[in-house]
Amino acid sequence: MKILVCVKQVPDTTEVKIDPVKGTLIREGVPSILNPDDANALEAALQLKDKDPEGTSVAVLTMGPPQATYMLRECLAMGADEAYLLSDRVFGGADTCATSTTIAAGIRKVNELGKVDIIFAGRQAIDGDTAQVGPQIGQRLGVPVVTYVQDYKVEGDKVIVQRQLEDGYEVIEVGMPCLLTAVKELNTPRYMSIGGIVDAYQKEITVWDHVAVDLDPADCGLKASPTRVFRSFTPPQKGKGEMLEGSIQEMGAKLVGKLVEKHYI
Ligand SMILES: Cc1cc2nc3c(=O)[nH]c(=O)nc-3n(C[C@H](O)[C@H](O)[C@H](O)COP(=O)(O)OP(=O)(O)OC[C@H]3O[C@@H](n4cnc5c(N)ncnc54)[C@H](O)[C@@H]3O)c2cc1C
Repeated sequence: MKILVCVKQVPDTTEVKIDPVKGTLIREGVPSILNPDDANALEAALQLKDKDPEGTSVAVLTMGPPQATYMLRECLAMGADEAYLLSDRVFGGADTCATSTTIAAGIRKVNELGKVDIIFAGRQAIDGDTAQVGPQIGQRLGVPVVTYVQDYKVEGDKVIVQRQLEDGYEVIEVGMPCLLTAVKELNTPRYMSIGGIVDAYQKEITVWDHVAVDLDPADCGLKASPTRVFRSFTPPQKGKGEMLEGSIQEMGAKLVGKLVEKHYI
């Protein structure tokens, strides 16, 4: 079985800051990491490999600048077998639509080298935060997609998936090949091992441009991005909350008094 995990390099912060003048993401001074949900997705793939080391291989794939090789080496050090970087100036300025077109083209190319049975993505990236890329890749490739995967097991040529809901979960049976998006409840990602780090530097990272993945530049990057961002901003901070003290009855009376004072009731 071959599993491919889509991994994204993101700024190491859950609190994305926006330049108030330019309206762009402030990346300066913020180290980059493997997107947390993608670490869960990779762990899920590696656990399948642990069960069948001879019969299972795990590939990681990212679209990003050349610096993304550091994150790919981290994935190799965790235990991935192959790493693919889609990097080309024409991929720049991509919205989620163009991003998923490029990643899908990369996966088609990986498929030529060995058919992928399960594609994993994270539920969402902590910087862009749209949760669109995984399902869009599935749509481009014409494979079934299950989002919010919190548990799963492979049975023959099917995957039985627990899909997280707000107040429970649903069980879905899906045929392979399929695309699953991982949530953090799926597992606890492993650390890189010393041996893994050494091995990671012996393994090759395959770098593909738009020609290699058979994409027309008109279908890549900014040119193929219908999204227009009119404004980005950080919402102003809310005022400090006020804690009420006393018994339930006293706090209730104080709260009613405050609401009356402000003409809310
Ligand atoms: C008009 C416009 C221009 C933009 N220009 C740029 C730009 O020049 N440079 C830039 O970095 N960003 C740019 N972005 C942001 C870029 O579109 C998003 O970062 C990207 O599409 C992923 O979306 P997301 O972060 O919401 O991912 P989500 O949809 O939240 O990610 C879900 C999952 O998809 C997978 N995934 C997402 N992105 C990648 C990736 N690159 N490689 C592999 N797997 C991935 C991961 O598994 C991830 O967990 C631009 C956005 C817009 C709207």
